Amino acid sequence: MARHSWANWSGWVKCAPKTIESPQSEGDLSRVVRNATGPVRVAGSGHSFTPLVETNGTIISMDGLTGVDLCNLEQREVNVWGGTRICDLGLPLKDYDLALANQGDIDRQTITGAIGTGTHGTGRALGSLSTQLAAFRLVTAVGDVLHCSPDVNTDVFEGGRVSLGALGIMSQVRMKCRPAYKLEEHIWPMDVDHCLGRLDAFDDANRHFEFFWFPYTDNVIAKTLNETQKGAPDPRPPEARSMRRAENRVFQMACEAGRFLPFLKPSLQRYLTNSSGESTRIRWSCEAFPSPRTVLFNEMEYAIPAEEGADCVREIAAYIRGRRFNVMFPIEFRRVADDDIWLSPFYGRPSVTISIHQYAKQRYRRFFDGCEAIFRSYGGRPHWGKLHSLKAKDFEALYPKWGDFLALRQRLDPDRKFVNPHLKEIFGL
Ligand SMILES: Cc1cc2nc3c(=O)[nH]c(=O)nc-3n(C[C@H](O)[C@H](O)[C@H](O)COP(=O)(O)OP(=O)(O)OC[C@H]3O[C@@H](n4cnc5c(N)ncnc54)[C@H](O)[C@@H]3O)c2cc1C
Repeated sequence: MARHSWANWSGWVKCAPKTIESPQSEGDLSRVVRNATGPVRVAGSGHSFTPLVETNGTIISMDGLTGVDLCNLEQREVNVWGGTRICDLGLPLKDYDLALANQGDIDRQTITGAIGTGTHGTGRALGSLSTQLAAFRLVTAVGDVLHCSPDVNTDVFEGGRVSLGALGIMSQVRMKCRPAYKLEEHIWPMDVDHCLGRLDAFDDANRHFEFFWFPYTDNVIAKTLNETQKGAPDPRPPEARSMRRAENRVFQMACEAGRFLPFLKPSLQRYLTNSSGESTRIRWSCEAFPSPRTVLFNEMEYAIPAEEGADCVREIAAYIRGRRFNVMFPIEFRRVADDDIWLSPFYGRPSVTISIHQYAKQRYRRFFDGCEAIFRSYGGRPHWGKLHSLKAKDFEALYPKWGDFLALRQRLDPDRKFVNPHLKEIFGL
């Protein structure tokens, strides 16, 4: 039988599903799920590094279910079809004078794929995209459509806001928005000790604060975004796109050089840190949050209790230097507010997230394994869409609502239609 093929963004997860379905309406989606024998996995835009979508059964693409419907302008809520990419949300929302309260550092994911793994940006007072969810419609394993909100099917709403496509398929989500706003970005290099000694002050003083640390240097690249009423957004200079492409090309060249000539790492990393210089600019929020990421990599990220973030990131950097790992990518450090979502890495605790990356052409296993042991010693919880080696027993100890989620999954999908080998391991099935 002819097989299809599917791969994730970095190219490390590949599979040959029996079929890839692209339903064009919610009714179609219900029919496809009802008739499929399983396993059935729904794909967003494949930006997860973990094999969440991998299957030899049916993959459902949400490409045919896209777009934004205004729901309630007074409450600033909009209905978004599940296959809509975040990058296609900004302008329609702006037409209603609305915007998302926060986003991650790229916008190529689908809204439901991002929600599915608890995708987040940075900001002390700001939660993940899943916290911006007001309601959703879920197509279950038998093809029923459940409306889920804080008032209706409450437990499915509570547990389903981060659920890895394991409870069903979100055909549509209702997002809470806020009035459209502009953000002023400030980027500058800073001494790492200065930065880590004043994290709380930076988080307090800025709506969004994050930093990137090339671990073979003593400086970080700090970045803030703050709401501004100042004038019009900076016009997008025609050369901006080609400048960004050029920056990515330089970074790609540094990765290639570092791969073959590892002794160049410290000087290349110093160059990359210093060449970013200091800059400010103003843009609408949907343009200010995302940055282009054209150099392929694999990534691990853990959420750590906020108060331990500085110690943890220092230990990670020291470990990388001590073991002389050949890595050209910076460590990324962000802040996320706590929430009450059962499988959210931020459940019940204000957190920082620390991400490590490896160029997609280089092996990551030994490097990531060593860092993972450090993350775990801080009680870290992994990002569901980024590489980790945790299994059901580990999650049970990390998530107070683990048992409730497993019971909900069992109730909604007793025949395990939505379970692939990766979810089997995660849930201990
Ligand atoms: C370059 C890059 C940058 C990134 N930046 C960030 C970042 O800034 N912050 C962050 O937190 N993460 C980030 N990530 C991780 C990424 O946001 C998540 O892995 C996200 O889940 C990917 O969304 P996707 O649309 O590609 O979904 P996929 O990876 O295709 O799927 C993710 C999960 O969602 C499920 N799913 C998809 N659609 C539905 C649906 N309709 N109903 C129910 N479940 C569904 C899938 O089954 C799967 O379990 C980044 C990843 C990359 C590659």
